[in-house]
Amino acid sequence: MSLVHGTELFAAARKGHYAIGAFNTNNLEWTRAILGAAQELNVPVLIQTSMGAAKYMGGYELCQQLVEATIKSMNITVPVVMHLDHGNYEAAKAAIAAGYNSVMFDGHDLPFAENLEKTKEIVALAHAKGISVEAEVGSIGGEEDGIVGEGELADVEEAKQLAATGIDFLAAGIGNIHGQYPANWKGLHFDRLQELADVIEQPLVLHGGSGIPQEQVEKAISMGIAKLNINTECQLAFAKATREYIEAGKDQEGKGFDPRKLLAPGTKAIEDTVKEIIGWMGTKPVKLVPEEI
Ligand SMILES: [Zn+2]
Repeated sequence: MSLVHGTELFAAARKGHYAIGAFNTNNLEWTRAILGAAQELNVPVLIQTSMGAAKYMGGYELCQQLVEATIKSMNITVPVVMHLDHGNYEAAKAAIAAGYNSVMFDGHDLPFAENLEKTKEIVALAHAKGISVEAEVGSIGGEEDGIVGEGELADVEEAKQLAATGIDFLAAGIGNIHGQYPANWKGLHFDRLQELADVIEQPLVLHGGSGIPQEQVEKAISMGIAKLNINTECQLAFAKATREYIEAGKDQEGKGFDPRKLLAPGTKAIEDTVKEIIGWMGTKPVKLVPEEI
């Protein structure tokens, strides 16, 4: 088992009150660290690229092929879902064409009627190929790839309408934000999460998972969050370990400047971070998830 579609994995997670981690990749080191952590813990994982990361890496086809080839070269046997994070309409179509297993169409900045219409179109295109679709209602605050969201609570009626388009999972704003959380952050809005969980059958997605206290993450998962997005936490871990390596002067000792040495501590730090967060999510080992789709 290697690359799989997301639908059944995440439905099982919501039913079983656990979550599956969705980690953003930026390059080969990130990809290896995420896959290595999931394999070591024997859990399914979702590896995703934002539009910006895909552009940086050389396009959706390259990203898909990098992940697929890395799975093969590392003998990864746990289920892996290759996903587009926060795609616009064109990006979702491009990722579907490139062979991603799952796409997020993020139309939260469109008028709601247009978000609904375009989500329907992406669902039709994706489901024809067995690809799962995530949609977003209520903007998630913070900044991602230059897009700054104010953050708002998802409207329950709009969430119901988006869910009725046949999407496979729904990202909903519940006070979560991308990037680092400010000191005066008020925490997740569990009352709104409960209202959403009461009427939405699909697995719910918590974006901006980096920096939410562990007990709030665990509570959200117990209430219906089945996919937890983590990005900033890995970036901070990578930067910190790389900074320590350089500040200790290790790049100036022997061949410490060799990128295979220079990038190693940061890569290890990503792997450790991924393992720690998967531990919070209670992700069930692979023997409990469906067979390959
Ligand atoms: Zn997000």
